[in-house]
Amino acid sequence: MADIETWATDSFEAKYKAMMGQMTEADIKRSAEQVIHLCQCSKCPTNCDTGEINAVYCTFGISNMNKEQKGCMCPDCAITKTMSLRWDYYCTRGSAVDLSDL
Ligand code: SF4
Repeated sequence: MADIETWATDSFEAKYKAMMGQMTEADIKRSAEQVIHLCQCSKCPTNCDTGEINAVYCTFGISNMNKEQKGCMCPDCAITKTMSLRWDYYCTRGSAVDLSDL
């Protein structure tokens, strides 16, 4: 289980279990909304001309819009670093949970 001693090197799966394992869907949604200011999706070339304002696709999962992949800013996002995310194009591929070993 991830903790303060091991956080820098823990996997997404360990961090997710430590932080969100006991959360309800509503809690997880609230948590994602609290970090929306860190999310790069609204500035991303894949997303910015679609008019879709929902973001944090790494948590909320695949977009309902059929998007053409034009680049992904997720690797440069603070959420990626904090949560040890290792994927990209969550808007077209699904949430981190969907792509993980959880
Ligand atoms: S998940 Fe990646 S590709 Fe999709 S909108 Fe966000 S930064 Fe862009």
